[in-house]
Amino acid sequence: MVKDTKLYDLLGVSPGADDNQIKKAYRKSALKFHPDKNPSEEAAEKFKEITSAYEILSDSQKREVYDQFGLEGLSGQGAGGPGGFGGFGEDLFSQFFGGGSSRPRGPQKGRDIRHEIPATLEQLFKGRTAKLALNKQLICKSCEGRGGKEGSVKKCTACSGQGFKFVTRQMGPMIQRFQVECESCHGAGEIIDPKGRCKVCSGKKVVNERKVLEVNIEPGMKDGQRIVFQGEADQSPGIIPGDVVFVVSEQPHPVFKRDGNDLHYDAEIDLLSAIAGGQFAVKHVSGEYLKVEIVPGEVISPGSVKVIEGKGMPIPKYGGYGNLLIKFNIKFPPAHFTDDETLKKLEEILPPRNVPSIPADAEVEDCVLADFDSSKHGARAGGNGRGQSYDSDDEDGHHGAEGVQCASQ
Ligand SMILES: [Zn+2]
Ligand SMILES: [Zn+2]
Repeated sequence: MVKDTKLYDLLGVSPGADDNQIKKAYRKSALKFHPDKNPSEEAAEKFKEITSAYEILSDSQKREVYDQFGLEGLSGQGAGGPGGFGGFGEDLFSQFFGGGSSRPRGPQKGRDIRHEIPATLEQLFKGRTAKLALNKQLICKSCEGRGGKEGSVKKCTACSGQGFKFVTRQMGPMIQRFQVECESCHGAGEIIDPKGRCKVCSGKKVVNERKVLEVNIEPGMKDGQRIVFQGEADQSPGIIPGDVVFVVSEQPHPVFKRDGNDLHYDAEIDLLSAIAGGQFAVKHVSGEYLKVEIVPGEVISPGSVKVIEGKGMPIPKYGGYGNLLIKFNIKFPPAHFTDDETLKKLEEILPPRNVPSIPADAEVEDCVLADFDSSKHGARAGGNGRGQSYDSDDEDGHHGAEGVQCASQ
């Protein structure tokens, strides 16, 4: 005798119906009331109900509880009162009929193992092979992941292999339902005969092994790039092993900055080289020294950028190399590096002075340049109100800011 027949009535079957009859009945009604076929609100409600009913009646344990205690016996399980007693519906439908957004039905994929693999620009330029040892879990070969000799591993009959059981308990007017670990198999869902238990893995089905992986960093690889060893993560019975993923982590370089396939380099040269030409050396990430020529008369101004083509990073797949971009800082000679006589000669060499001039009818003040002193002229120093703070990116203050002092005439 069943407590109530509501769920059977919904599917149009008798309480004595077998699994196959229930399945057939659900299929028929579900197709009739599915929102795709029948867009009315009434049908949507009906679809939800029959799907919930099927969800319960197709599960032998849930059906047993329902037959004995009615829907109340299933409360605690997300099955509420009459009407919408479930949150399933669409998902179960797609599982049943295929298609739609059903969750994957095959074996689950195990966790991926992720490792950062640090690499300097030099290593990324040339490429390198790193050997990395990995402790991983493997399916025991001796018992092929069964945990014991063939025939010695049996599905637990107490829980039908689920590893857990439902217990219902009357607590005053309420019927509570608990999920408890099966005490016969301790949650494993199966029982291994101690005589047949695998001696290699002691019935655990898996063993640990150290494996060395050769990680090949290709020339030109970039920060964040992944090197994937498919299926090399931990093995476990019934799952597809995850991947071992190495992620390239480019280390900051003291001299070069990388931008894609290009390299950036800041060069400091003296004024004479900048104007009259010369050469300077760059120690490249390839390990070789580049001899860079400045053609006399080319004139390199401060902040200008020049390019050496093909001296950047290797370009993977396409071949070739990026470019080396050189940004120039010009180191001026120190104060009073020569006498006034010699300086006059510069007037014969350099282009004539070209600075803003004063219109003939303007009022004029004569000013003297003093050295900038942040304690005296900085914004916080206050002073005579004429003090101003300038940013100076040059420690020597060669072309940093200078305070301007003026005196009325
Ligand atoms: Zn069990
Ligand atoms: Zn074994």
